[in-house]
Amino acid sequence: MSARGGIDLGGTKVQAVVIDAQHQVLGQARVPTPTEGGPQDVADALAGAMHEAADTARVELGSLTGIGVGSPGGVDAGAGTVRGAGNLPGWEGTFALGPALQDALGVPAHLGNDVQVATDAEAALGAGRPFHSLLGVFWGTGVGGGIVLDDRPWIGRGAGGELGHVVVKEDGRVCPCGRKGCVEAYAGRGAMEARARKLVEEGHHTDLFKVMEERGRTRLTSGIWERALEHGDDMATELIDRAVAAIGTGVASAINLLDVEAVIIGGGLGIRLGQPYADRILEQMRPHLFRDDRPPAVRVAQLGDLGGAIGASLLVPGAAPTPAAA
Ligand SMILES: [Zn+2]
Repeated sequence: MSARGGIDLGGTKVQAVVIDAQHQVLGQARVPTPTEGGPQDVADALAGAMHEAADTARVELGSLTGIGVGSPGGVDAGAGTVRGAGNLPGWEGTFALGPALQDALGVPAHLGNDVQVATDAEAALGAGRPFHSLLGVFWGTGVGGGIVLDDRPWIGRGAGGELGHVVVKEDGRVCPCGRKGCVEAYAGRGAMEARARKLVEEGHHTDLFKVMEERGRTRLTSGIWERALEHGDDMATELIDRAVAAIGTGVASAINLLDVEAVIIGGGLGIRLGQPYADRILEQMRPHLFRDDRPPAVRVAQLGDLGGAIGASLLVPGAAPTPAAA
């Protein structure tokens, strides 16, 4: 049996999976991302999660054909290094994550960009299977994007697909990236939470933070936004409406440029809010589409929480399925 491993390195959690040749998940493990220390501590957490996933899969770690890692920051796949992963502790510089994992686990490690591997997973095994070209939109704490053109990932010079930083309003709201008017400034869960806190300070009412406290959370998670929307919370509804409009506008501009067949909506909020919101994003795209007579398909990601880790496992040579016939 030729099984392989995949790890999604996120800002809050590390998700590891073991996958067989038919792309079935044999085992998985999830651990919190270290908040202190440095890159070696993160590498240790990744190795621990991979060990645990192999245990649950009842597979010998050493028998894996390889492992893939989807990482934030600047990934140099050839060198196996990650540079400037700002959400990870002490990771301002460059760290040789690939070699560190190879040493710890005894199997070859392959690195890729976290959002791009999640897009590749949807393209190869998920909602994007019927299409040869698509845009992946990951609506979560930030807004990430990935591009597949003619069955191949497009990352430009390494930073392509940054849909979250497509400008939808000139001189608009400040984005977490420091620039103004980006999609993420309106639609990122982090930016929306900051906006909600500011509105509350200014005396506006919302149940968002009450729900957060009831659930014992310190952040407005996707589930909290969903709950507030279900209860008709005015502030939540307005902020999400604004987010949907920003994503629709940004995606429409990307479609005018690339004319891909499909848009796959993933990420914590995208998956949680589901197809009704994907449909609303399409409605918000329509007025901006140059070819409004044939919009792209807009669908929710199918691989859910495991998409990033499954996509990372496709980095292992020989793992990726051949594209569907035209
Ligand atoms: Zn930005």
